[in-house]
Amino acid sequence: MAIDKSGEWWTGSQAADIERFLIDLAAEEGTIPIRRYRAVACDCGGDTFRLSGDDEEGCARRTCVACKSSRFICDSGDYWSEAEPEDLACHGCQGDVFNVGVGFSVSKGPAPDVQWVTVGQRCVKCGILGSFVDWKISYSPSIHLIDQV
Ligand SMILES: [Zn+2]
Ligand SMILES: [Zn+2]
Repeated sequence: MAIDKSGEWWTGSQAADIERFLIDLAAEEGTIPIRRYRAVACDCGGDTFRLSGDDEEGCARRTCVACKSSRFICDSGDYWSEAEPEDLACHGCQGDVFNVGVGFSVSKGPAPDVQWVTVGQRCVKCGILGSFVDWKISYSPSIHLIDQV
């Protein structure tokens, strides 16, 4: 794993760099730490996606490049009808294909809940890492969201 932080944007050489990126980003911004992480993989085995979502409403959907199937990330489907989703393009190269991973801030204690969902992505073409959307979870139980990326 190697993240290059020397340029204007952090870049990663592989999909697995998204995890470290999200953890470092949360630390740098002083937001609640990310304790759990899931790499997004399609049922077909594909790991490259187009992304759309709405940062204000807090929701995201990913579409597999290989098989074209779409899925909402975590509970995004519940908010999609109220959202104004936009397709994500890389701010470096305008590419629209990404590796995707989701970081979770999780409460402590015997019955932890997800408190925050952070979607991270890595542009497959140029390697730029980013976090395109994140949202707060304010209901319980919510730990199941970890398995719904
Ligand atoms: Zn697929
Ligand atoms: Zn790019």
